[in-house]
Amino acid sequence: DEAAAENLRWKAYDPAKLADAEWKLSLLGRLDAAIDSGEVWVAYQPQLDVASGRISGAEALVRWSHPEKGEVSPMEFVLAAEQGNRIDKLTEFVLSDAIKTAASFAARGETFDIAVNISARLLEKPGLIGTVRRLLDESRLPPERLTLEVTESAAMTSGRASIRTLEEIGSVGINVSIDDYGTGFSTLEYFKKIPATEVKIDKSFVNLLDRNASDRLMVRSTIELAHSLGRIVVAEGVETDEILAELVKLGCDRIQGYLIGRPMKVAQLVRLIADRTHAAAA
Ligand code: C2E
Ligand code: MG
Ligand code: MG
Ligand code: MG
Repeated sequence: DEAAAENLRWKAYDPAKLADAEWKLSLLGRLDAAIDSGEVWVAYQPQLDVASGRISGAEALVRWSHPEKGEVSPMEFVLAAEQGNRIDKLTEFVLSDAIKTAASFAARGETFDIAVNISARLLEKPGLIGTVRRLLDESRLPPERLTLEVTESAAMTSGRASIRTLEEIGSVGINVSIDDYGTGFSTLEYFKKIPATEVKIDKSFVNLLDRNASDRLMVRSTIELAHSLGRIVVAEGVETDEILAELVKLGCDRIQGYLIGRPMKVAQLVRLIADRTHAAAA
């Protein structure tokens, strides 16, 4: 009817949407140059291994330090890259940086696990596994040191091609993590079907863990289920000592969050690890 048509017209010319589309296009247009110039770079957020008390690895998180706009959220430009068919290029850049970083730790005799986020879209197409294996070979990093994170909602809605990619990733020894777990309403059935080695509990369940009984129940049952299936559990978004203590009590394997460290440059991470090793030895 007329009201609906008017509504559509209004939407099509919504200035906010137009500005958003232009903004994304401008990001896409600059992406290659921004990668080459270092405006786009990779930050590393440490993960604490509860059993050993050491920083056992990090998650690679892409950053864009834009000269005019400041820090642009990866939520924005990753989406732009997905929509503009440039996610292959962006992901290869992050993978390459992350694998080199992990290899540099390995060269100093430290085992260091590296996690990289992978868009659902990339699982549907062939090519990812070849790229990853080439980069691992070039840096001589064992596949066991790498984890690819796929969000729970992406894993759930993925079709046969994506499941096959995940199986292939697993068959060559690379780890798969279900990221943002708890936000995708997946069933026990599905949990078993995805060839994952790790479950990463979403920060929305971790945030109020020490104050919210239903969150605690969710986290506890996830840890029990994951362990019974032989998977390890990581909690993201850990900001306080109280929440850390709670997670340790519940048997969580790894901890990631501002309490341990924010996403940072490699040099800072190296310093953080050295400082902790020093403190532990003292
Ligand atoms: P994610 O993979 O779930 O990453 C965790 C996000 O939580 C990161 O946000 C991290 O900075 C933030 N975080 C970590 N600890 C804490 C904490 O204690 N408190 C709070 N409030 N936040 C914490 P970031 O870096 O803004 O990334 C947002 C999302 O963008 C990521 O969520 C991931 O889905 C996506 N992303 C980032 N880098 C890449 C990438 O290289 N490729 C792809 N495909 N996606 C990426
Ligand atoms: Mg992640
Ligand atoms: Mg996450
Ligand atoms: Mg998240």
